[in-house]
Amino acid sequence: MHNAAFRARGLPYVYVPFLVRPADLAKAVQSIRALHLVGVNVTVPHKERVAKYLDGLSAEADLCGAVNTIVNCDGTLFGDNTDGRGFLVSLQERTFSPRLREVVLIGAGGATRAVLVSLIRTGSARITIVNRTLDKAQALARQYRALGKTQLETLPFDALRDPALFKEVTLVVNCTSIGLHDEEFPTLPYQATPRSCLFYDLLYRPGLTSFLQQARSARRATLDGRRMLLHQGALAFSLWTQTPAPTEVMARALARALQ
Ligand code: NAP
Repeated sequence: MHNAAFRARGLPYVYVPFLVRPADLAKAVQSIRALHLVGVNVTVPHKERVAKYLDGLSAEADLCGAVNTIVNCDGTLFGDNTDGRGFLVSLQERTFSPRLREVVLIGAGGATRAVLVSLIRTGSARITIVNRTLDKAQALARQYRALGKTQLETLPFDALRDPALFKEVTLVVNCTSIGLHDEEFPTLPYQATPRSCLFYDLLYRPGLTSFLQQARSARRATLDGRRMLLHQGALAFSLWTQTPAPTEVMARALARALQ
């Protein structure tokens, strides 16, 4: 999607993948300066560890403790994290505001952290983090409780069977990797949610995940991870080029790539 965007904007850039082994991370970051790369995206497993090699961080990258985008300003490397903002833009374009909402986040990994920080900063009323490993959910709640006024709760995974959890919930986000390889998502009491509840799966693989299939069967609105992926990329594009991203060109390229 980035190469399509560069072509659409007539920019003489190219986006290429580099395989970086964990032991080579410091050298790889130094290469950004040596090779005068305009910027890079960073993905697993380097998102957390890369921060210590950079010269500055955005508020989001600092709060999330993770970087997905680096901008090279004449050898000064600035780390940002566009995942949470990409998530919020994907909600905005559905005219869904998470402000003052009650939310269930399923998962407690890196994606949950980015989504959690963005929701707290937007002013969600209450967020329940549900995770298989409860300790990880509790650690997130402890870390971010003071960030805003949002009430943070944590529950173990089997709490997802309890209809009472969903009574006032209008946004449920699957931030786990369940569904990546066609695994079935446990059946939730979808009908217990208000009719306006939005079920959001961060996964962006082709086809509906079982989490979203079940939500559709219960006549609830659904959203998959493609628009978040698009918008985190569009935000990175603007950071690198100081140019508005040609979002729909990128969306078409992404759709082709994810077929
Ligand atoms: P991660 O840090 O590895 O976290 C994975 C999470 O999934 C953990 O909470 C883990 O629970 C849970 N999990 C995995 N298998 C499970 C199972 N069988 N049962 C219950 N829980 C399970 O991964 P991540 O970086 O947060 O990414 C999560 C997903 O979000 C990925 O599929 C990724 O593709 C997607 N994502 C999408 C976007 C986008 O732009 N749309 C951006 C970022 C990530 P435990 O803690 O108990 O292990």
